[in-house]
Amino acid sequence: MNCIFKGLRNWVGIQLLFFSIFSYSQTIENKLPIVIIDPGHGGTDSGAISKRGLKEKDVVFRIATEMVQSQNNTYHNFEIYLTRAGDSLISLKDRTVLANTLKADLFISLHCNHSENNKASGLEVYVHNQNGMYLRSSIATAFYLGKGLSQALHSEYRGVKFANFQVLRDTSMHMKSILIELGFLSNELDVRIFSKSKNLEFIAKSLLQIITKILEL
Ligand SMILES: [Zn+2]
Repeated sequence: MNCIFKGLRNWVGIQLLFFSIFSYSQTIENKLPIVIIDPGHGGTDSGAISKRGLKEKDVVFRIATEMVQSQNNTYHNFEIYLTRAGDSLISLKDRTVLANTLKADLFISLHCNHSENNKASGLEVYVHNQNGMYLRSSIATAFYLGKGLSQALHSEYRGVKFANFQVLRDTSMHMKSILIELGFLSNELDVRIFSKSKNLEFIAKSLLQIITKILEL
């Protein structure tokens, strides 16, 4: 296809997508709280990779999709939207545009860690390192989610940390915003956990249960 028409078609498609989101955002008052789940990486960006080839982008996406399926069946006090619908690379900016346009209440970016030290293990949660009106509630959310999930998984809790990650920087002024490193793909025990579907389902359900409690506070 002629490049100009192809470009025009893509541009129109993008405009329609944003118009749909914008229109939707006009009618979301008095609806359930909105939770954005951001499965990190995707497409050509695999994120961390274990020795045997388990990819961070796949682990976090399977947990995220399991959260959507379980949420449809069981949990009804909030709505979930994913920042990517498949194995595609979404820019960091677009991940946060979705969250901000939907006027979400909570943004959770899912990641897996990696370290030179293959003994490093456990779960840590990040919030943005600048002061803002949602900083305290983000720290509390990070604490409840990190502590609760590490107890459910019997993994080490490494605490709440502060960082200037773009997804946190671009959302933290508008909603509670956290980034979770669920475990280490450099650690054999963590990799074994992430390799089993039933464990990923358990992580997804545990996250939903904790989010439900946080939103009721
Ligand atoms: Zn990552």
